[in-house]
Order: sequence, then C-alpha cells, then structure tokens
Amino acid sequence: MRFVRIPVESRLLLLAASVLVPRGLRADWRMEWDGEIWWWITTQPEAAHTVRERLALAFHCAGAISDAFCLWFQDEHRLARLRTVLRGPRACLAAGVSLVALIGTLSGGFENTGRSLQATFRPRNPGLAILSQTGPFMGQRLGTSLQGAAVYTWYRSVIGADSPHTSDVLAAKVGDQFFSLLGAKPQMGRVFGPDDLQSCPSCAVIGYDFWERRLRADPGVIGRTITMDNRPFRVIGVLRTDFWFLGERPAVWSLFDETDWRSFPLAMTGAICRLKPDISPARAEQELRTLAREVVPKESGAWVTVDPLDAIVSRPVTSLGALFVAFAGLALLCAAVSGGVIPGTFLLAKTVVLLSVIFLAGFEFGGAASITGIGGTTVAAGMAFCWLIVAGCLSVRWSWNDQRKRCHQCLSRLMAPIRIGEGSRMLLEPGGTEMACPRGHGALFTAEGDSIAPKDRWFPLDATGAVFSPQ
Ligand SMILES: [Zn+2]
Repeated sequence: MRFVRIPVESRLLLLAASVLVPRGLRADWRMEWDGEIWWWITTQPEAAHTVRERLALAFHCAGAISDAFCLWFQDEHRLARLRTVLRGPRACLAAGVSLVALIGTLSGGFENTGRSLQATFRPRNPGLAILSQTGPFMGQRLGTSLQGAAVYTWYRSVIGADSPHTSDVLAAKVGDQFFSLLGAKPQMGRVFGPDDLQSCPSCAVIGYDFWERRLRADPGVIGRTITMDNRPFRVIGVLRTDFWFLGERPAVWSLFDETDWRSFPLAMTGAICRLKPDISPARAEQELRTLAREVVPKESGAWVTVDPLDAIVSRPVTSLGALFVAFAGLALLCAAVSGGVIPGTFLLAKTVVLLSVIFLAGFEFGGAASITGIGGTTVAAGMAFCWLIVAGCLSVRWSWNDQRKRCHQCLSRLMAPIRIGEGSRMLLEPGGTEMACPRGHGALFTAEGDSIAPKDRWFPLDATGAVFSPQ
C-alpha cells in the first residue's frame, strides 16, 4: 500500500479556512474535512501526484472556505459581540471620523475649506482687490489709489475648427498685467507680459486641466496653434495645476481687447487691482466712484465696489464659521446639562464630528464656498446658508436624542425595546418602553403620555441581572 500525504497547498487552504470557523466547532470541522480529503485521495489512483490532480484537490479544498464563511456568519456569539461593539460610543465617533476622512479624500484634501481658512487666518494677497465695475474705466485713468489693474471676463468659447472635434469650454479674456498682479507662475512657457497686447495679441495661455485632458499633457505644446472662436491662437504657456482664481477654471486665457469690451456680459466682467500701500479699500472705492461719475454721469458710478481678495476668499469661513461655532456652543450647553464629564464629552465630540461632516460636505461639494466671477457669493452659497442652519439644528437634536437612548454607564446604544403596560393614564403605573444595555449594565424605562412620573428612569443591573432601585 502506498503512503499518501495531503499536498501542502491543500493543507494551507484548510488552515486558512479554519480560522473563520467558530472555536467550538473547529475540531469537528477539521476532522470532517480531513475525512473528505482522505476519501478523495483513496478513491482517485493518481490523486496528489500529478500537478493536474493536485490542482483538482486544491479546488475541492477551496470549498472549505465557503463552508467556513457560512459557519462564521452563523456564529451567534461573534454577531452578538459585533453588535455590542457597533452600539458602543467608539463606533459612533469612528463612523463620523471615517466620513470626514472620506470627504477629505474625495475633495482632494479639503481644498475649498483649506483655501478659505488660509485667507481668513493667514492672508496671502494683501493689497489685492477686486473692482466690480470696469466699464467706466476702460481707456480712462484709474485714479491715484491703484498701483495697477487688469480686467478679466469669462465667456463660453468654441475650441477647434473642424466640426467633429470642436468643444464648448469656459474661456477667459484678461488684461496683460493679470497674471503678474496675482503672482502666477507658469508650469511651462510663460504668462502674459506688459508688451503682449501689441506684440502678441493672438497669444494664449492654457489651463492645466485643459492641457492634461484635451491636449494629453503634450510636452511640445508651446508654440502650437489652437483655434478658438474661429481665430488662431499661439500657445505661449501652461498654468500650474494649483493656479486658482475665484473658483473659475477657464481652459484658455487670451488677452482682453478694450475695443470690444461691451460685447462681454457685464456681470462677469471685473478687474483685479493692487492698492497702493496705506490706501484702504474704502478710500479707493470712494475715489473710483467719483471718477466713474465723471465718465458716465447718468449711471452715477455708485455700483463700483473694491473688495479685498482675501476678504472674498475668506467669506465662506467668516460667514458660515460663526454658524458652526454657534452650533458647537449649543452642543456644549447640552453637554453641560447632560450630567457627568464623560457623557458630556462624548455628546460634545459626537455633535462636533457630525457638524464637521455636514459643514465640510457643504463647503466641498454643496457650493457653500463658491464665489462668482466678480467675487460675489453664488446662489448655491446663499442656499447653503439656509440648509446649514436646518442641518445644524437637526444634528444637535439627533445628538441629544441619541444620548438619551444610551447606557448611563458605558454609553452604548440601548437595544431590544419592549413595550410595558397598557399605556393607561393611571397615576403610578404608566405604560412605556424599556430598553437594555447590550453589555448588561442596566435598562431604561421611558414613560408615554402625560404621566406625572419622570419620563426616563434608569434601572442599573448587577452582574446577576438583579434590578437595583431606579436612579
Ligand atoms: Zn452599558
């Protein structure tokens, strides 16, 4: 008789599968599968010798994994332990923190929130401001309060000349000082310079996304000609991936021609300007309004505004940040009256994490931090303000209600609600619901209706399950 060993790959498969089997059943399960393999090997003459037969046996053993999974899912102790962990306070906080991490991953590291926070606490562009109305100043003097200014406007443009490959993209026309005022550096080539309006009127700078997607990150793009609005433009530079200006990402930037500025939508036309040192935005605004009245007396020039760029970028945080702080303060108040340092801390942490999820999602995906072309806030940002108030109220309320349904000792969420009593209006015997701690620390009785008895009563249990007097 030939002595046959179980091949090593099949033994490893069985070993891996046995980890999933509940401990109490593991020995029996292993004996059963050893018997199965013994039967396989003794009934097949070439088993465990040729590669083909060894593979066939390994496939047969793979069935042990699905078998072990079935037992794993049916393991009541494991499921009960899992339920207890999921009802615990750590699972609640971990779920919230995971959501924050997910928002961070999807938004590229909280891009909008980070930019707005930076503009609030560490302004990077002091002296730069957005001039809302440019019409009266076209071809005119700009007064004594500005060091420089460059107009900008957005519009939909058609790229490409041959019809199957044309596309409708956002394009921008800017003054020749635009990029130098912003301190923007190119990824490749160069940006517009002071003489380009005369020497290079058909030059274009392209955005990083457009270069990467449409031009497939062509390293030889500088000097290439692209067709935009049926006019050829020579590419002189590619902007860096981190270039940002008021939330717009035009594909192609070309030079603004003052002779046809009236054909651009006024609402999307503004100017970036640098104030002289010691000149406040309010003083510049006053001077520019006076100048505008001289040029266009009928329009009065009253609509000209000069807003510091940092103030515009930080506006989402300065307006909605106060709302966040207000809700966090409300949570602190709830924590203070909830009784105990640990339950109070948990209530505060839970609410702040939930508020963070809502506010960060609003900033990153809900348009709460979006700014229009001329530096105002968008309709989405206005709507977000209302939604965030509602969502903030609901989250504080949810936290408070959730806290009421938690164990007084371990803060696990109570389970197994049982109705007790008939719900009658008897004075000392009100109907209600009882829920127990999954770790067996106690039970909470919640009365219904208008009983004068306390609404919530907590009954601690000792290790044997005996009930102490209510707290
Ligand atoms: Zn408990």
